[in-house]
Amino acid sequence: MRYTAILAALVVLLAAGSGPAGHTDTPRQPNTDVPAWVADILEAKPQDCDWQREYTGTIAALGADPARFRVSEDTRLYGRVRFDERLALINPTTPCRFVADTVRHEWMHLQQARAYGDADGVRDRYGTRDHTERVADCGARILGSTTTPYVDADFAHTAMYVGPCRPTDIREARHLIAWGTP
Ligand SMILES: [Zn+2]
Repeated sequence: MRYTAILAALVVLLAAGSGPAGHTDTPRQPNTDVPAWVADILEAKPQDCDWQREYTGTIAALGADPARFRVSEDTRLYGRVRFDERLALINPTTPCRFVADTVRHEWMHLQQARAYGDADGVRDRYGTRDHTERVADCGARILGSTTTPYVDADFAHTAMYVGPCRPTDIREARHLIAWGTP
């Protein structure tokens, strides 16, 4: 995933600025000079990214019901779904470049809630939270998302990663997507 690679490169660059190994008499300061090409990439996207347009535009592109979405800080993550209410919450602090991917992921959860009734029904269907998340992210990928941390091997070192999309996950995701708008 592109941003992960860029951030990893940035971390390496910052670490590389700590001076020659073996000289410990002066305190090492991290090098905060960011090369111009890194700064360009990091700053280019937010400037031309309109949060509200990403949010409403993605909901419209999905053909989703806007009443099923709410901008709310009542989530520790970028977004979450209250299955029993069939309501998606999108955190207003979610970085603009991740808003569309978050909306697609939460819409997949809305489709799960619609298909299986409520939180109990979703649990009965998938068994585990990991399976529920994997299907949601596989669906988000099918819908065009590029940041899908539950299934993207670039995130294998993080707590979010649960494993790659399996054929059964993709079939399930396609079924939920084909079912259309609630
Ligand atoms: Zn989720």
